[in-house]
Amino acid sequence: EEFEDNDSLEIFKKSGGSILMTSIDNLLNWGRSNSVWPLTFATSCCGIEMMAAGASRHDFARFGIEVYRATPRQADVIVVAGTIVHKMAPILKRLYDQMADPKYVIAMGACAISGGPFFYNSYSVVRGVDHVIPVDVYVPGCPPRPEALLYGVMQLQRKIQTESIREPRKANDNLL
Ligand code: SF4
Repeated sequence: EEFEDNDSLEIFKKSGGSILMTSIDNLLNWGRSNSVWPLTFATSCCGIEMMAAGASRHDFARFGIEVYRATPRQADVIVVAGTIVHKMAPILKRLYDQMADPKYVIAMGACAISGGPFFYNSYSVVRGVDHVIPVDVYVPGCPPRPEALLYGVMQLQRKIQTESIREPRKANDNLL
């Protein structure tokens, strides 16, 4: 009987095959973190870089994030890619509210993080989407390159892997 061990799983090798032991948390987090489906949502130029991240050169699909969903009910994450104006903010909030838990938000680019180049002297632009919905990962840049968004996705995956069903994540935990 051989035995392998790391922090998250144990494998026992028997003559008839192998037995894998792990926790429910590890199993759920493994599945969730590797199938984070994004909402089809982009408002301006950062959206072009998000699309590039999904194209063949950068290949979002390697991280299990390839399936963009056109309905919030089938999406796990909103990548806020672009400027959010005050007129758009209630719509963004409604889309977020319509997503099922657990749900996540990536603020991609300076506009989504702080209003970016429109921070000063704009009557119309929201100075950071975290005034509207809670943000899990911030990806800086104007625009961030696809590699930066991929890194942000990897940080989100790391965050998901720390969750536990004993303490369900409250969607508004990190709302300002
Ligand atoms: Fe466009 Fe820059 Fe704003 Fe992105 S951060 S939406 S590239 S102005």
